[in-house]
Amino acid sequence: MPMYEYRCKQCGETYEQLRRMSEADSGLVCPHCGSEQAERQISACSIGGCGGGSGAGGGFT
Ligand SMILES: [Zn+2]
Repeated sequence: MPMYEYRCKQCGETYEQLRRMSEADSGLVCPHCGSEQAERQISACSIGGCGGGSGAGGGFT
């Protein structure tokens, strides 16, 4: 199950939740204020993985 990061639209806090992809945006409750209004953040960890990437042959200059 992937970890998703959300930002609460009510209090602006961010929080992470482990969810199934099919339920990524359903049944969310902010642990800070209890709001169900949240937007999913793009997590770098879920795309390319955290760490690694020792910068061999970048070419972004
Ligand atoms: Zn909140």
